[in-house]
Amino acid sequence: MSSPLDVLLARAGIAGLQAAPASKLAKKGVRTVRDLLEYVPRTYMDISKTVKIRDLKIGEQATVLGTVHKVDGRYLRGRKHMLSVKVGDGTGYVEVVYWNQPFRAKNFSQGRVVAVAGRFERRAGKLQVSGNVIVETIRGDDDGVHTGRIIPIHPATEGVSPMMIRRYVHSALKRYAKDIEEPLPPELVRRRKLPPRAEAIGELHFPTGHDTYVHAKRRLAFEELFVLEAGLAVRKHRFEQEVRGLAQAGGAELVERFLGSLPFKPTGAQRRAIEEIAADMAEPRPMHRLLQGEVGSGKTVVAVAAALVAAGSGAQTAFMAPTEVLAEQHFLTVRRLLDPLADAAPSEDGRLFGEGFGVELLTSAVTGKARERALEEAASGRATLLIGTHALIQEGVAFQRLGLAVVDEQHRFGVHQRIALRAKGADGADPDLLIMTATPIPRTLAMTLYGDLDVGVLDEMPAGRIKVRTKVLGPGDRDQAYDLIRSEVAAGRQAFIVCPLVSDSEALEAKAATTEHERISKDVFPDLRVGLIHGRLRSSDKERVMQAMRDGEIDVLVATTVIEVGVDFPDATVMVVEDADRFGLSQLHQLRGRIGRSEHPATCFLLTSLDEADTEQRQAARERLKAMSETTDGFLLAEKDLEIRGEGQLFGRGAVTAEDGTGAPAQAGQSDLRFASPLVRNVELLADARKEAFALVEKDPRLKTPEHAALREEVRRRFGERLDWLFAG
Ligand code: ADP
Ligand code: MG
Repeated sequence: MSSPLDVLLARAGIAGLQAAPASKLAKKGVRTVRDLLEYVPRTYMDISKTVKIRDLKIGEQATVLGTVHKVDGRYLRGRKHMLSVKVGDGTGYVEVVYWNQPFRAKNFSQGRVVAVAGRFERRAGKLQVSGNVIVETIRGDDDGVHTGRIIPIHPATEGVSPMMIRRYVHSALKRYAKDIEEPLPPELVRRRKLPPRAEAIGELHFPTGHDTYVHAKRRLAFEELFVLEAGLAVRKHRFEQEVRGLAQAGGAELVERFLGSLPFKPTGAQRRAIEEIAADMAEPRPMHRLLQGEVGSGKTVVAVAAALVAAGSGAQTAFMAPTEVLAEQHFLTVRRLLDPLADAAPSEDGRLFGEGFGVELLTSAVTGKARERALEEAASGRATLLIGTHALIQEGVAFQRLGLAVVDEQHRFGVHQRIALRAKGADGADPDLLIMTATPIPRTLAMTLYGDLDVGVLDEMPAGRIKVRTKVLGPGDRDQAYDLIRSEVAAGRQAFIVCPLVSDSEALEAKAATTEHERISKDVFPDLRVGLIHGRLRSSDKERVMQAMRDGEIDVLVATTVIEVGVDFPDATVMVVEDADRFGLSQLHQLRGRIGRSEHPATCFLLTSLDEADTEQRQAARERLKAMSETTDGFLLAEKDLEIRGEGQLFGRGAVTAEDGTGAPAQAGQSDLRFASPLVRNVELLADARKEAFALVEKDPRLKTPEHAALREEVRRRFGERLDWLFAG
């Protein structure tokens, strides 16, 4: 069913909205009339009551309407830039001052009609406003779109100003408001006395009163969460009805022996997580558990313990990592960790396996005879653990009796992967699933958004860890970082030099890394052992480099982001990130997690050539670096990231629904949640929506009744094809 709202903007018959602005808006994720109508204003400005400049009261918040008389930008001594915009309304003048934002000059030309809202002060005899000020261009020949009311200020984009967007939205509302459908069930709308959707959308853009948009937003947020939860409820319902798991209740002794054999004492959090997992696995329904733990919190040990529960219950484990490099590392780690248990019989009931634990590696780097052997070990059941990349379950790997799948460092595990996994379970049952991630998602939020995942947290770091010190350096200060590398290497430690991100191109990145490696090994550290790793190296070469690093044969490793996730070298204590401003916050956090993995103090240098924050983009980059230097707490950083990037973009399409098997990042500017905040702020609303949605699905599990047709359609639209299998049959 297609709705008139799904028409592309350039064809929507909206005055002035032709191909050029439409393609610019599309970059912001605003492609259709629906997108435009759901494009949430950044803020509002009340110009229903403006004040004459003559009547302005000093220090009070007010809005004036006037014409730009003069625009003047210049650098002052000390290189500070000052942009001054003089606005007059016939009764006097005010001056709007912007510091260090020269790019704003292009927004103002003489004669332009603007509204200025802020707190006006008197400085040097002039009425001035700076800092927290909103200046908005208003069309002179107004038809009521812009003046005499509360106006929306939508997030602008290159070449499409808030004023233009305001006109488009106004015209879209006129023409399409009648096509806005109500996805909420009529009973719910009546009982909760909700305004109709069309009305809420209208208020969202052109509020008729001072706080009407607040109610409108709340209603839309509720609806959005309700639809999301309804989708999750349908899935959960179906899942519980149709899916059978293995009751894996063995392995307790193995786990105790394992924990006792570790060279360190497991943290309380690790013990708790293992207990939760063992309890879940003992149940006959399949486990679906997400384990969150900061980088370095020790998730691998928990995964191995879970594998021992499976082994002790007579089943195999598939352990999947996002990269070959990481799979290889896990393989070595797991084998080492299980070494002390070599004499233990893996399966208590003797149902499987030969002597000791078979651990096999299967990545695309494992070929020929070695590959055949690994496949044979998996199929015969002699391999207790099969370690590989996420493709493991999708390749033609047969297991004798698969009981557990561990997915490391990926919080998105799509339906396709789950289906592939299901097909491999023992006795036609779903294997237990443990997903591990360092991506911090507030707990309540994760529980609700993932719907059918149970969430556990490793909220305790191994004892003795010292926080990584982080310093932001200009390019002139590089020597400071190199000096520290030198002294740390002299003390037997290792360092990473991370090369800049190059426009999503692995080939260019590899080239840049190769050049940097040459520079570092010839000009900077000719006396040290400098290694190189990047995505374009052959698998066997990557392996060799990782092994050399482990064996302490490399002092300084020049790397691309292939080392971003999971890599564990306890002796690495220094990291230099070149052009750190190009990286996202979560990426920097992951990268930094590669050092400080022992009791030795560690330092991370973030290099940047951004000095003046003269564009919004650069400003955001500087804020990211500042946040990095202020905290090592992943949760705080995630919240900060939301703040800087704007809400709703942290998780992207796949993560919110946990359905996007591709693991691809969401497109910039696009998010699943348009109205609801993914921050804890909306948790109550979320809980409320969840309760309603689950109650409804309890009564109508497939949303088959006619009153739920619109809801069903909306769930489909939101979840996309990825959920179609839910409704099938
Ligand atoms: P992550 O959670 O980032 O995957 P890892 O599992 O790689 O963390 O563990 C990080 C490092 O900490 C490893 O070197 C590991 O051996 C070590 N480690 C794990 N648990 C503990 C513990 N309880 N005490 C001390 N060190 C630990
Ligand atoms: Mg890990």
